[in-house]
Amino acid sequence: AKSAGGNRSELADPEADARAITRHGLTTALPTALERGEFFIEYQPLVHLGDGSVRGAEALVRWLHPQHGVLGPDRFIPLAEHTGLIVPLGRWVLEESIRQARAWRERYGEQTTAGPLRINVNLSPCQLSHPGLVQDTVDILERSGVTPDALCLEVTESALIGADDDLLKPLRRLAEMGVDIALDDFGTGYSNLANLRRLPVSVLKLDRSFTQSMQQFPADPVDLKIVEGIVSLAHNLDLAVTVEGVETGAQAEQLRILGCDTAQGWYYARPGPPERLQELALVDATG
Ligand code: C2E
Ligand code: CA
Ligand code: CA
Ligand code: CA
Repeated sequence: AKSAGGNRSELADPEADARAITRHGLTTALPTALERGEFFIEYQPLVHLGDGSVRGAEALVRWLHPQHGVLGPDRFIPLAEHTGLIVPLGRWVLEESIRQARAWRERYGEQTTAGPLRINVNLSPCQLSHPGLVQDTVDILERSGVTPDALCLEVTESALIGADDDLLKPLRRLAEMGVDIALDDFGTGYSNLANLRRLPVSVLKLDRSFTQSMQQFPADPVDLKIVEGIVSLAHNLDLAVTVEGVETGAQAEQLRILGCDTAQGWYYARPGPPERLQELALVDATG
């Protein structure tokens, strides 16, 4: 037997072992989970900061695991990216949320003050570099009869830092078709602001860390200046600004004053089943 030194870290950390086993277990269970329909989507409303109307929703995937219960995306998206299952899983998320957007349009499209609800879908960097992305998206939109302008694809800022033209090409094609591209978690990467001009994006999603710094009223003057600067730059470049992680009315008010366009967060609604969004949009339309 080996002396205590060699494998000590494994032996001395049973919790890390258990985590590794779970990770391994989850990874091998992913493909069957997709076949068995264990994934589902929750929708979180996107609210216009000016008038409070619901403009759309972000689709957030969850896994109803037969043993572990509901797992959040942070538990399995990295595993799916590692094994490549993110491509069929991401395609399923896109198809399912566009089907849902279609249902909203049919039932409530006419009744919302701001027109039909729009749908935001997260895109992993692996999907970006997959050659089928544009065609899959076109096919899904055509099959559902949903127009491209109802769809917004969210790509993280870090996925696009230093992106070469090959990676940007599919995004450009989608943008030309009328699909909105949002730069997610904006402000957490180290992207050169001037670089924004090069990217086919129409929306900046300001990272939750900025929202958190708006907790005090009035907020820290330096943070205020930073957000003010980002908003004015974005608007000068014809980009809309969405803020995420809004948990209090004070944050919402501060961000509205700073000129942000739309907001998302627990203050308005937690992610939930599609019926919940229908209720919110309907209340908004009639009241
Ligand atoms: P994200 O795209 O930045 O999504 C926002 C996250 O913030 C969501 O976590 C949402 O539930 C959470 N959130 C919303 N409002 C609040 C708030 O007021 N306070 C706080 N503290 N959190 C709030 P979730 O659902 O756990 O998703 C985590 C991440 O997983 C997402 O971050 C996204 O990067 C990824 N993800 C989710 N669904 C998909 C998907 O279908 N495909 C891919 N590739 N990634 C996904
Ligand atoms: Ca997102
Ligand atoms: Ca985000
Ligand atoms: Ca995030």
